[in-house]
Amino acid sequence: SQQDLVSFVKEIVSDFNVKAKTQQIDLQFICPFSIMPMVFDTEKLDKVLFNIISNAFKYTPNGGLIHISLLKNIEKIEILISDNGIGMSKEEKERAFDLFYRGNQNISLGTGLGLALSREFVSLHQGDIQVESEKGKGTTFKIILPFVQMQSGETEVTKSLYARENIEPVMPV
Ligand code: ATP
Ligand code: MG
Repeated sequence: SQQDLVSFVKEIVSDFNVKAKTQQIDLQFICPFSIMPMVFDTEKLDKVLFNIISNAFKYTPNGGLIHISLLKNIEKIEILISDNGIGMSKEEKERAFDLFYRGNQNISLGTGLGLALSREFVSLHQGDIQVESEKGKGTTFKIILPFVQMQSGETEVTKSLYARENIEPVMPV
């Protein structure tokens, strides 16, 4: 269904506020748009974001930072989840999306399914997930989804909301 992607992502990020406080993590949500009506599967995208943000918390020591940004151009949107945690070696990075794969430096429990499922859910949207990581420095996951809108979504209300989209360049959670 069509839904505002900005408030959707913002709400998922806010669900981690308490965890961030406990781990003294600097959690931020950055988006140059105030609204972004888009057609997507809310249940699946919720699971993808939950898995990737949970990983960021799992693999980032206390006092670190986790930044989530939502960007868009004409044909696609990008959600970036960056952390300055333990990072991954080249081998871990290559295998991270494999079913049941878990890195050998794991600090906590898991099944190694989170990223495999996330990749599956993103490909069901005709999208893509990429990862950039450096051991000891941190990791960035990039979720790319095609920007799909309902034709009838172009109401006067949405148009006027779009006109204000650059008012708030940074929206802290
Ligand atoms: P779960 O099934 O509970 O999610 P998991 O977190 O180990 O278990 P995945 O989410 O699939 O499994 O991640 C696979 C592996 O990729 C992890 O075990 C870890 O080695 C590595 N990894 C994933 N995200 C990060 C990250 N943000 N920083 C460092 N390593 C990561
Ligand atoms: Mg995981």
